[in-house]
Amino acid sequence: MKMHIVMATAEAIPFAKTGGLADVCGTLPLMLAEQGHKCSLFLPAYRRALSSHAQIIDTHISFVVEIAGKSMAARILKTSIGPAENPVDIYLVDQPLYFDRDHLYGDQHGDYRDNCERFCFFSRCVVEAIERLKIQIDIIHCHDWQAALIPAYHKTNFGNLAWYSQAASVMTIHNLAYQGRYWSHDMSLTGLDWTYFNWQQMEFYGDLNLLKTGISFADYITTVSPSYAHEIQQPMHGCGLDGTLRARADRISGIVNGVDYGVWDPSHDQHLPANFSIDNWKQGKAACKRAMQMEMGLPPSETTPMIGLIGRLAEQKGWDLVKPLLELYVDAFDAQWVILGNGEARFAHSLAELARRRPDRVAVRLEFSDPLAHRIEAASDMFLMPSRYEPCGLNQLYSLRYGTVPVVHATGGLIDTVQPFSPSGHNHSGDFNGQANGFSFLQYDLESLKECVSQAIDTYSREPQVWDTLVTHGMTQDWSWTNSALAYETAYRRARELAVTKE
Ligand code: ADP
Repeated sequence: MKMHIVMATAEAIPFAKTGGLADVCGTLPLMLAEQGHKCSLFLPAYRRALSSHAQIIDTHISFVVEIAGKSMAARILKTSIGPAENPVDIYLVDQPLYFDRDHLYGDQHGDYRDNCERFCFFSRCVVEAIERLKIQIDIIHCHDWQAALIPAYHKTNFGNLAWYSQAASVMTIHNLAYQGRYWSHDMSLTGLDWTYFNWQQMEFYGDLNLLKTGISFADYITTVSPSYAHEIQQPMHGCGLDGTLRARADRISGIVNGVDYGVWDPSHDQHLPANFSIDNWKQGKAACKRAMQMEMGLPPSETTPMIGLIGRLAEQKGWDLVKPLLELYVDAFDAQWVILGNGEARFAHSLAELARRRPDRVAVRLEFSDPLAHRIEAASDMFLMPSRYEPCGLNQLYSLRYGTVPVVHATGGLIDTVQPFSPSGHNHSGDFNGQANGFSFLQYDLESLKECVSQAIDTYSREPQVWDTLVTHGMTQDWSWTNSALAYETAYRRARELAVTKE
């Protein structure tokens, strides 16, 4: 059965991006449309979303939401992406007071103080707009805390929705650590009855918790890798919601994000100084590495391993281990480090300091640059991702296709996508090296990270044949969206079955 899937999200490429959520929400609907489904996507009309696309039209659907003692007008704008035969309709929820700002969630002073109000407003508008646009909806697919009220509006039939009985809801958790937790008084912003403010639905230790709301009300729940789906049901990675998740364990699954090889493939990547494929990767990567050394002012060297790192400068990404690793061992490792990241000042300062101390070994760019991210993926010999936890991770998947061997902490999606090499023939996952495509370490500590990086550098320098095999495995593995989109279809079907069974 072909379905009409409506997504609600705070980010989607090419309109607004701060992380992997945008990659997923911009690509998954296109892949589902390719399978013959109809997809629509709701997004706040941020300033940058409005300036990113030329053909935005007014649907002439507008209405007022009573929120925080005010009457706030919403206007629904529309554009589309994808093929003309079956485009993905993009609906932008416009209210300049909430969304016409420089950033998505906050500025140098921290999160915007009205984030709860902004995303309550957004969620209420999505529910209302589906009604007014008369969308024939089968699935409402909500992403992360910003859209997590919608399953509650659906399940409680908020405002007598015409689409209430025909749709099922799916909640996807991209990162459980971001929950949208606000003080209890913000419950009034949701418009929902206070009876739902209890520990089994919306309340969390006296506060309002939007993600918990989505988890509690959704017909089906997904997260972005099977290992993370398991981990978040344990206290260590459950961020206080492991009990809520365990109570719904029969309706949770993990689906690894796919890669858009239209954008991330070294054979046609527009950002690279040289394109390459499995047939000529050695020459291609050597040319990209030379260009990167020039660009970053690193000494030219073909044989010195280049280690890439790209990501938000947040503790989640393992910078608290990278910092001492480099401070203590940058002189000892014969390697060049190319680092791209923006975020917390404490990490930015120490990285900049390292680059000043060893400009011949460490190059740091503290910015968000998509073209540079592509060039680093192509130029590096290995890619370091020592995340403390990682729901899925995209950069290791890009690395695999770019012949760049991932070196990772064995957690979440990194467990599901990186098969570690072991000289003994068996790795710590118990797999044979037959599928090995990288290196990983089990314990999240400096010693384990150092050992793993040393092993990768040694293998690169002393065992070129093993290295070639790891590169070949990675480059030929298929992490495209095809399988992930099929898995989402299965989740949607399951949601529809569960929606009609009595809880
Ligand atoms: P997360 O969503 O937790 O930040 P992911 O690995 O899932 O991590 O996705 C991160 C995405 O953002 C990738 O596409 C990555 O290349 C990109 N990215 C992160 N930081 C930067 C940066 N400073 N410049 C360019 N791209 C970045």
